[in-house]
Amino acid sequence: MSEITALLALQSDDLEIHEIETKLAALEPRIAELDARRRRLADAVERQQALVTAEEKKQAFLRDKIAEHRGLIDRNQAQLDAVKTMRQATAAAAQMEQAKKIVAGEESDLLALNRRLEEMRGALNGVKGELAALEAEQSTARAEVGEQRSALDAELAAAAARRAETAKAVPSALRTRYDRIRNKKRVHVVVALNSLSCGACDTAIPMQRRHAMLASNSIELCEVCGVMMYHQA
Ligand SMILES: [Zn+2]
Repeated sequence: MSEITALLALQSDDLEIHEIETKLAALEPRIAELDARRRRLADAVERQQALVTAEEKKQAFLRDKIAEHRGLIDRNQAQLDAVKTMRQATAAAAQMEQAKKIVAGEESDLLALNRRLEEMRGALNGVKGELAALEAEQSTARAEVGEQRSALDAELAAAAARRAETAKAVPSALRTRYDRIRNKKRVHVVVALNSLSCGACDTAIPMQRRHAMLASNSIELCEVCGVMMYHQA
């Protein structure tokens, strides 16, 4: 097998690998879009949960205060029962009135808070439901993308194994040169002369050089675009 044939076989394997990698890369935006839609709802759930938690803390605090003030009323009642004089009775009754007013205000606050909390929990359940629905809706798409990805991964592994075999037929110095050019992101590294010029950039190649390439079956670099040129017999 000539060097050129071996090198072209290597390039053909590399083009196949490149194609598989392109397909794999094309899956990324689909996955990213699925993730972005899910994240928007997951964030909404998190925000709503934080609101509910904060409101629950206020509720617990208010309940404690009401219990405390009710205890105060009970003590006032006991004092009122124990008073001996009218003056003491008036003072205790006034204190009692005051405490009852405070508790009544707090209880009305608690009612309003309970209603608000119910609404917030409703909204939380709403976004949780949306998230669950989206996850169910996405599971098919995610499974599909996952299958495509593992199929492509398997193809890629097989292509890489083939490439490793093909590479053995290319002399190592030539392979190093080829790999170096290829790593600069070129897809086509080895190109045939296009009658009078470089097959990639169309730079004219002098006749003498073309003839020498044909005679020796040699592979030469294009000084202008850097590809490896050969003369097709
Ligand atoms: Zn060129």
